[in-house]
Amino acid sequence: MDDANANASTEEIGSILRSHDSFILLSHVRPDGDAIGSQLALGHALMAMGKSVRILSEEGLPENLAFLPGSGLVECPPSEPIEADVAIALDTATQERVGAKCLHAASRAALWLNIDHHISNHRYGDLVHVIPTCPATGQIVYQLLTGLGLPLPDESRDSIYVAVSTDTGSFQYPNTTAETYEMAADLIRRGLDVGTINSKTYDELPFRRLELMRALLNTLELAEDGWLAHWELTEAVRDKLHLQPADSEGLIDHIRAIRGVKVAVFFEEIQNGKIRVSMRSKDPAIDVCKIASQFNGGGHALAAGVRMPGPLAAAKSRLIGAIHQRIAEIRAEG
Ligand code: AMP
Ligand code: MN
Ligand code: MN
Repeated sequence: MDDANANASTEEIGSILRSHDSFILLSHVRPDGDAIGSQLALGHALMAMGKSVRILSEEGLPENLAFLPGSGLVECPPSEPIEADVAIALDTATQERVGAKCLHAASRAALWLNIDHHISNHRYGDLVHVIPTCPATGQIVYQLLTGLGLPLPDESRDSIYVAVSTDTGSFQYPNTTAETYEMAADLIRRGLDVGTINSKTYDELPFRRLELMRALLNTLELAEDGWLAHWELTEAVRDKLHLQPADSEGLIDHIRAIRGVKVAVFFEEIQNGKIRVSMRSKDPAIDVCKIASQFNGGGHALAAGVRMPGPLAAAKSRLIGAIHQRIAEIRAEG
């Protein structure tokens, strides 16, 4: 492996965290629980070490994650670059995915750290700490904080739990490891209130999310003899229901859960005529990260995404074509 791209050790990351004073924490556009959770977890730990910390998210704090303790720290990127020693990108496979405004705000940072769990990570930055076997970046942050003996305040504890819970489908996906459950047990011993945090994460959904589900169900289709399920969200429905980006988070799991389905796909019209595609696989033989990579997307073998040029019908036909090709190969092999 190229030395420049080799993983930095826990100790190397620790020495950066200890020896610098000011940090900008970043994650990806359309942030999920793992993105914001990892930023807050590391941010509150650094603040407990007396560091100065700015936590940026391209569009500010998403409403669905405002329940996280200490979430008020998340801010929209300022228009002028921030003076800070170190920028740390969390849960973000490519540097562009932090967002253009965040990139500009962090442009004066002398040192970039890239802490992530995406197998498709481009290994950008001065120090790279990418662990694809970790089911969530939140678990990597936990391992760093505990491994280095750094503070783990209550805000970090709760944020780590939500980061890992949301990225593992509530500790269900096959990438959930013994270490994940040991971590959860340790967080509970440190005072985490499991019932309350889960109900804040999963039982406080806005009504419009269920209206979205009704609209999606009306577009649901099965293909490839029941191996493929897909549904779609148009801009017209988004406007009619006054949806926010996070409203669709996790809904794909409903079609992934259909018996016989191996691949689930969610097509969504977003701004600038682009189509956001979310994919889930239940069969390791159908690596959706590889399929997403054909169109410059990425992610993990069983959960991946890509942004494609529109219109919707064209993006659907190209992507479903690529899935059809992979399924045809598997059928020919088997
Ligand atoms: P999502 O379907 O948005 O929950 O994303 C599933 C996985 O794919 C996550 O790990 C994302 O970080 C990754 N992913 C989603 N969209 C993209 C994209 N446009 N480029 C690279 N990775 C992506
Ligand atoms: Mn994420
Ligand atoms: Mn993640």
